[in-house]
Amino acid sequence: MKLVYSHPNPIVLCSMSSALNELGIETEIRNDILGGATGEIAPGETWVELWVIRDDKAPGASKRINEILKQPERAEWICNSCQETNPPTFDFCWLCHEPC
Ligand SMILES: [Zn+2]
Repeated sequence: MKLVYSHPNPIVLCSMSSALNELGIETEIRNDILGGATGEIAPGETWVELWVIRDDKAPGASKRINEILKQPERAEWICNSCQETNPPTFDFCWLCHEPC
């Protein structure tokens, strides 16, 4: 068993876990309360840990996790029609309603 990733959001962990499962890497998700061990974590906040069952799968798992983490989040985008800046959550320009 090797710890490969931890995150306060269980949903993030679940998507990591299923990405690894797709590669045939067995995972286990554990809840752990670190209680502010790193200083960044509010006391009582729960971090969730992603473990791989087989140690020899850990390097592949870490590689895949890094790939996922490197994927850029959707950034702000500039409308082609009116040059207005739109937030990443908008699929259409808020000003002229052109699609992203
Ligand atoms: Zn526009």
